[in-house]
Amino acid sequence: MHSGAEHVEGVPPEWARCVRCGYAIVGLRPDGVCPECGLGILASWPQWELRECHGAYIRHLFDELGALHGVASIVGLAALVGVGTTVLSVTVSGDPRMYVLAGGIASACILSGIALGQLFQLIKHLYKHANSNWTYGSSLRRCMKLGVIVIGVGEVVAFVLGLLAFVYASQVGSAVILIGAVLVFAGLGLIHLNGMLYAAFTLERAGDTRRRSTLTDLSWLLPFVGLIGFPFTVFGVLDWWWIAAVGLLGVAIAAATLARRCTCARGVLRSLMESLSH
Ligand SMILES: [Zn+2]
Repeated sequence: MHSGAEHVEGVPPEWARCVRCGYAIVGLRPDGVCPECGLGILASWPQWELRECHGAYIRHLFDELGALHGVASIVGLAALVGVGTTVLSVTVSGDPRMYVLAGGIASACILSGIALGQLFQLIKHLYKHANSNWTYGSSLRRCMKLGVIVIGVGEVVAFVLGLLAFVYASQVGSAVILIGAVLVFAGLGLIHLNGMLYAAFTLERAGDTRRRSTLTDLSWLLPFVGLIGFPFTVFGVLDWWWIAAVGLLGVAIAAATLARRCTCARGVLRSLMESLSH
């Protein structure tokens, strides 16, 4: 099974800190409490089985999945706006087409801005846990951070370098914008894949693997479906806009799959918190 981390079982090693007060909890028994603030060691140094973990730690995971759910929902909504705009701008002709395009691009930009803000909130939350570099899921968290960096680089390439190149040579500009767009999609795919695994991983730790299917694990490939049709645009068989619409639809479905898995994992965590408090 995927362990997703360099976690050390049992007693916390010398770098472990209490998540509430920062006290070094090195060598303390997992069933004990922090000598400084009284918080259970399991809140700072969780075990694999969530049933054995502290309620505060489960709450932390619950909030993390909530933030991930928020990001997925907003990205999905932005992608749907993109699909609508692309389809309308192909089918509508004349003046209204410009309004559709302008409105669609503006809404998609606003939604993407909110999604990016949410994403930064999520990354902040992922690292809020004092021992996040060593507790379970640390490699997945690092990979998600890499995805954010890839998106950032892609946006700089597309919107700064691409647009600058476009002014001097439109074909070079288009090529650079395309590279930037592929990077943005790759970053989204990376965050999506790690988010899917993170939620699946939480289900596994909660002892509930029935809800995980390999088919939904593969949903990160959906945003790339549009790229398969790309060669057809080169030969003029298909309009570029249709490829964009299919790609965006893939993003929307992938985002919905992630949001659904997060809801599912949160449901399992909620009942776990309820059973722990009784
Ligand atoms: Zn403490």
